[in-house]
Amino acid sequence: MFSIWMFSTICLVISVKIAEMFSGINEIKYNLTLVYFLREGLQLMLLLTSSFYLSSPYKEVLNKVSNKAIGFMSLYPVLAFILLINNYTTSIEGLKTLNYTWNMFLLLIFIILGYVFVFSGISSASRIISMQYKMERLEWTSSSDPLTGLYNRRYIMEKIESELKRPQKKKFSLVIADIDYFKKINDTYGHDCGDFVLKVISKSLMDTVREQDFVSRWGGEEFLLFLPETEVEGAHTLVDRIKGIIEEQIIEYNETQVSVTMTFGIADSQDYQIIEDIIKKADNALYKGKGRGRNCVVVA
Ligand code: GH3
Ligand code: MG
Ligand code: MG
Repeated sequence: MFSIWMFSTICLVISVKIAEMFSGINEIKYNLTLVYFLREGLQLMLLLTSSFYLSSPYKEVLNKVSNKAIGFMSLYPVLAFILLINNYTTSIEGLKTLNYTWNMFLLLIFIILGYVFVFSGISSASRIISMQYKMERLEWTSSSDPLTGLYNRRYIMEKIESELKRPQKKKFSLVIADIDYFKKINDTYGHDCGDFVLKVISKSLMDTVREQDFVSRWGGEEFLLFLPETEVEGAHTLVDRIKGIIEEQIIEYNETQVSVTMTFGIADSQDYQIIEDIIKKADNALYKGKGRGRNCVVVA
């Protein structure tokens, strides 16, 4: 917006000066005009350099400007052109005052319109940015768990289902992880401490998995890990690492030190069964692990 505005203005001023130069005025004016050209040339170079460096953020802003504001912007060079051709069209004395007034009027509109489109552009861009921000927030709140910030059950189910529907299926693993004796933590240290432990454990899970993995809160003190393109062996190695980190971690809450362990059930996507079956397999493995005394990893 600014560059169209400036470009039109510079073109206008340069053309006026060219016209003055060729209308054969005295030498002082001629020199002044040359200085003027140098200055305008410098401004043009500055404009080109800045537009080169600013072009990508500028394009981004332009994408966010409404069509109405772009309509305003396209009027601007047209007005500049009208102003330009209007400038030297008459030598008849009687028409000069009228011509001068008309020029002033056009110039005024030129300036006002410049301001209008710059501000309407800015306001429409900021409106669109704030709408996008609201939509992103809405999307985030509908797909995440408010306590831990992890993905929620609905989101992870959708994610796994879309993986199962892919034409070129790739193996993946699911892990259900459950905190051992979590009820005891609530009973001993209080519900707030329990919440704090859930947050810390969630962060540890997030920090330990690989970039392509998804960690979700499956419910209560249970987590579902979706590990794309991962065979059981790979999942086992990753889960062993998580298990080690969790059991060694000391969680400090209001000068109380808490430590927890977790039990894990792993299932892979063999035969690409329906999602509920894979989850059930992982769940059964988890309960086997609970039966074996907890703090362990069981493969279905
Ligand atoms: P196990 O080793 O067999 O898994 O025993 P557990 O005590 O972890 O399992 P149980 O299912 O008996 O208890 C889970 C507890 O988790 C009960 C529930 O009050 C607590 N819980 C569930 N959601 C939350 C939560 O958001 N915050 C807190 N603080 N506690 C929660
Ligand atoms: Mg538990
Ligand atoms: Mg549980």
